[in-house]
Amino acid sequence: MNILNMPLTDLSGVGEKRKIVFSLLGINSVYDLLFAFPVRYQDRSEFVSIDSLCEGMEVCVKATLKNRIKNIRVRKSMLISQGNVFDESGEIGVVWYNNRFMEKTLRSGTEYIFFGKISKNQNKLVLSNPTVETLKNEKAFTGKILPVYKSTKGITQKVMQKAVWEALEKFSGLLPEILPLNIRQKFNLMGIVDAVKNVHFPETEENALRARRRFVFEELFLFQAGLYKMRTVEVNGGKIYKTINSEGFYEKLEFTYTNAQKKVSEQIKLDFKSGKAMKRLIQGDVGSGKTAIALEGIYLTAQNGMQSALMAPTEILARQHYLKAREIMPHLKIELLTSSVKKSEKMRIIEATKSGECDVLIGTHALIEPDVTFKNLAFVVADEQHRFGVRQRQKLIEKGENVHLMVMTATPIPRTLAIIMYGDLAVSVIDELPPGRQQIKTYLVGESMHERIYNFIKKQAQSGGQSYVVCPMVEESDTQNLKAAVEYSNILSQKLKPLKVGLLHGKMKETEKVSVMESFKNGDFDVLVSTTVIEVGVDVPNASLMVIENAERFGLSQLHQLRGRVGRGSRESFCILVANTKSQETISKLRVIESSTDGFYISEQDLLMRGPGDYFGTRQSGLPPLKNSNPVSEVELLYKTKEAWEMIVNRTLEIDDTEMELIDFGIKNMYNMDNNCNIIN
Ligand code: ADP
Ligand code: MG
Repeated sequence: MNILNMPLTDLSGVGEKRKIVFSLLGINSVYDLLFAFPVRYQDRSEFVSIDSLCEGMEVCVKATLKNRIKNIRVRKSMLISQGNVFDESGEIGVVWYNNRFMEKTLRSGTEYIFFGKISKNQNKLVLSNPTVETLKNEKAFTGKILPVYKSTKGITQKVMQKAVWEALEKFSGLLPEILPLNIRQKFNLMGIVDAVKNVHFPETEENALRARRRFVFEELFLFQAGLYKMRTVEVNGGKIYKTINSEGFYEKLEFTYTNAQKKVSEQIKLDFKSGKAMKRLIQGDVGSGKTAIALEGIYLTAQNGMQSALMAPTEILARQHYLKAREIMPHLKIELLTSSVKKSEKMRIIEATKSGECDVLIGTHALIEPDVTFKNLAFVVADEQHRFGVRQRQKLIEKGENVHLMVMTATPIPRTLAIIMYGDLAVSVIDELPPGRQQIKTYLVGESMHERIYNFIKKQAQSGGQSYVVCPMVEESDTQNLKAAVEYSNILSQKLKPLKVGLLHGKMKETEKVSVMESFKNGDFDVLVSTTVIEVGVDVPNASLMVIENAERFGLSQLHQLRGRVGRGSRESFCILVANTKSQETISKLRVIESSTDGFYISEQDLLMRGPGDYFGTRQSGLPPLKNSNPVSEVELLYKTKEAWEMIVNRTLEIDDTEMELIDFGIKNMYNMDNNCNIIN
């Protein structure tokens, strides 16, 4: 019997009804249940005597009920059930809210185990809303460290605990052991059965930690192994560029490179000469000037009679690159291919690319469509890497032979993580901004500041600057968000009279977005109200103010990206984060943005704060979400898993075929790959 799809109804406590409730929690099989780890534990391994209770304690008390519980209705919607319990040290009140069953369930003179929080009621300590267990039943649960599960809407903690307990007793022996014995020994890791038992019902706190460590290890190990397998498309050699002379390119550029750009430019020239295909990640903060580096690569490729492709995540960006490329390299035949290009035009571009007449093809995802082919593609650039999946990047590379690949990202990740995640890519860092840039002054303010903000927008306009206003977000739905955006731009048009206010939102057609962006760039509006579609890459040097409404709803990296839309020219620039939150946690998060403009630092803080989850952004990135681990705070384990995987690859540590199959199984499971997926070989 395969435990992976064993239905929950195989458990005695789960019938058809509960099965549905479990499925709402994302638990659809016994396996899912065993891997729904608790978020914390309650220590019931010790009973606290009543005379040593204090307010705020969460405790387990073994005590006898003195009299019957009394139900008192205080309001229509509020029923209070009260009683007193005692042990040999003293007596304490106990109270439940809206729980009429207690009166019937508990018997006076009987000893129970109560678990709950001590609070103060009219200056007296009470045990409020405790869970109750009888001594003879449920032996299993008394005197233990008990799991507390995340959201168990529709199911009590107790039902959840019982279900897990039963699943452990009956089925944990069927769990596949993904980690080979030698690895477990070498890295001192619990076996799967022990680990899954201890993660739910640990004997001691230390065991709980050891169990977690095993699962973090397993997850990071499979993550590594999966990445490794995705990359093993071997690159043999690369096109050698015979002539490398960028003089003509530099002449057309309206600035000279920063030292950081010079360094990276030298690196790519070496790659082009080396005879090995370039595989390079360019990490640079927003505005550090990555585009010029990509264009130089394109220039050199054309100089050697070969074709380049540049893929950007949005039409706006693709067009921006296209215009820049045509301006700097008027001697080349450059085409723009996006999904909004008309069919006949598309046919023409595809033909020109196939015949080699087109030197440079710039565009969006449209580039990876199967009908796009090249005569001699030699250089591929993927801009804003985090928006693309590894697979999409791969598809583009496969349109040529041994092509040089440059990946650019403005969401830098800590170097340690970069080395592991992009182990196949050399990493270049542009760690310097062009001269004359103003530090963007950032202010975190509350909503009461709106009038002052509007005045500030007017002041910017008076001195010729332009402003972005990122819309307030509504939680409900996209359509409502759209409505809010339209309304907000109307309100602003009123408030900001006579300034011209434009609107850009995600539901617009690509061509509309492009034309709004172009008008803004031309100075047709003073203010651009926008949903987050302006997030990446857009370059309007005259924009000097960014106002972000509901800043609390954005991630740090996203805020940093948004802020990066200003301060791109020589104007003194500002960013105002308008937050509507009382949460200290959120405020200190926003303070990170207020206090720093260093994208590397911000992304590190962001990753640290995020906890386990979807590190690598979008689903299409092709990388799995991490359920148990935080590769930034657990970077040491991350290194250990890398070491472990390398030992297997280099055969310095023996594992047998079955063990390898189990690892493969684990990878497929984690990366959620279907059988006809060809990334795993
Ligand atoms: P990003 O790295 O975010 O993609 P861009 O390549 O869009 O940044 O560059 C941002 C702006 O800085 C552009 O207007 C570009 O022309 C300008 N720029 C780039 N490099 C330099 C430089 N060395 N000196 C002055 N301006 C530069
Ligand atoms: Mg860019």
